[in-house]
Amino acid sequence: MLADLETLVRMQGLDLRAHQLRLEIAQLPKQIFEIEKALVSHARKLEADRALLGANRLERKQKDLDIQTQQAKIAKLKDQMNSAKTNEQFKAFQNEIQYCEQEIAKHEDRVVALMEAAEPLAANVKSAEAALAEEKAQVDKQKAEATERTAADQAALAANLAERKELMVSIPNPLLTQFERLSKKYKGLAISDASSGRCTACNLEIRPMVFQELRRLEKILTCDYCGRLLHYNPAIVMDVAPPPPPVKATRSAKVPAAPKVAAGIPSGTRVDMS
Ligand SMILES: [Zn+2]
Repeated sequence: MLADLETLVRMQGLDLRAHQLRLEIAQLPKQIFEIEKALVSHARKLEADRALLGANRLERKQKDLDIQTQQAKIAKLKDQMNSAKTNEQFKAFQNEIQYCEQEIAKHEDRVVALMEAAEPLAANVKSAEAALAEEKAQVDKQKAEATERTAADQAALAANLAERKELMVSIPNPLLTQFERLSKKYKGLAISDASSGRCTACNLEIRPMVFQELRRLEKILTCDYCGRLLHYNPAIVMDVAPPPPPVKATRSAKVPAAPKVAAGIPSGTRVDMS
């Protein structure tokens, strides 16, 4: 009977660990989403900078064409000016040439402004490209690590479930059903440590008679209040007992053994398995 309880304690430990593993596994897609989100926003910024630089270059090309057009116009006007018959005609050509020259000057000013703006834009794009490449390498590494961890978690979970299945076989059915029911009700904590004379899960003090019976380690008992299976493992008491007096360096001094902690019974700990 008591061996069954120890098996159930082990099963409870496995269940709590399985719950943690499942949580971790479920976290992975969210983690990868967060990792990639930063990358996407930086990539968008780079695209915006590239678009600005592209627009700048396009406008500059257009301005160069505009200048060429005006220069061709001036050449044509100068040709026509040679055949001017009157002073007024000559003056009119002159005015038109002057207008074209003013246009060229305006275009040239704009070209200078565009060139000045292009310089920091090009530098931005270049540094953003380098940063993004570095970041992408980092993200790929993080993703690989996260994927690897999940694969390890999944393997651990499979081993955990396999072990649980094996352990389950040895537990008689009414007890197993009781354990599963309590485990479901209490989010994985069907068994409570009662080594201190108190149910550590619900904090109820165990009746002295029940506690005495519990200490005899002959049958499985439940808490009067919460119904959890009670586990008596005095080794756990050492965890909460005051530290032993300092050991004197004499031959007779005994060094206390390290306390044995039963798996899966964190005293008074509640694990959310919802
Ligand atoms: Zn209780």
